[in-house]
Amino acid sequence: MKKLLTSTLIGLSMLAFSGCANVPAAKVSPQQENSIGAQQERQVLSKVRTIHSGRLYRAVVNVGSRIARVSGRRDFRWRYHLVDNPKVANAFVLPGGKVFVYSGLFRYAANEDELAVVVAHEVAHALKSHGIKGAQRQQKAGLIGALLQVGMGVAGVNQNTAQTVTQVYRQGATLGYLRPHSREQELEADSIGLMLMAKAGYDPRAALSFWNKFGRSGQRIPEYLSTHPNPGHRIANLKRLMPKALAIYQRSPYRRR
Ligand SMILES: [Zn+2]
Repeated sequence: MKKLLTSTLIGLSMLAFSGCANVPAAKVSPQQENSIGAQQERQVLSKVRTIHSGRLYRAVVNVGSRIARVSGRRDFRWRYHLVDNPKVANAFVLPGGKVFVYSGLFRYAANEDELAVVVAHEVAHALKSHGIKGAQRQQKAGLIGALLQVGMGVAGVNQNTAQTVTQVYRQGATLGYLRPHSREQELEADSIGLMLMAKAGYDPRAALSFWNKFGRSGQRIPEYLSTHPNPGHRIANLKRLMPKALAIYQRSPYRRR
């Protein structure tokens, strides 16, 4: 019944927005990113179990806040969550800077520098609004874009349609949060993440050790399933940027000495 209701709602929303396909992709403000992210965060938190104490939790919060501090985005409402699932070596970020790390990632992240590799990569996705852009790019018909606009009261629709669409969006948000990023976005997040971790005082060489370990294991972060950059390409990109990252690291006031 729930399934039927869902497909009916989706059908309705398609119908409601088939005339909106030409609405240009919304320019999403930081406030809107925060509210979209907060909504998705509530959805995710209702579906996963999180850990709020212990060494790994403190590591996630510590690394996350150190990287967010040097990101320059004080307008984002940064949040850091540790998901209790040792089988999954994964991490993702929601719009507005809600970072989720699965406990299984610690099979590969042996120290805070290596954890910082992943967290900084996710923070970089948030800084570049890749989640929002991915949704806009992939939903060419403008469905998600229209949903966002409705959610923000931009489109002129009646109250019933707006409610229907909001429900569909809430369901879609949880399905969509692991939508793969493009190869270009992955390499961009690697590049920006490398500089961010160095600026926050983490040794950028940990990016090479982490990705080498991860690559050897055959493990793949689900977000990379379809768009995983060629491991050699990823390492080559990081090596090319390493001298610049090391210079930033040497100058970082946050570096542990
Ligand atoms: Zn990524």
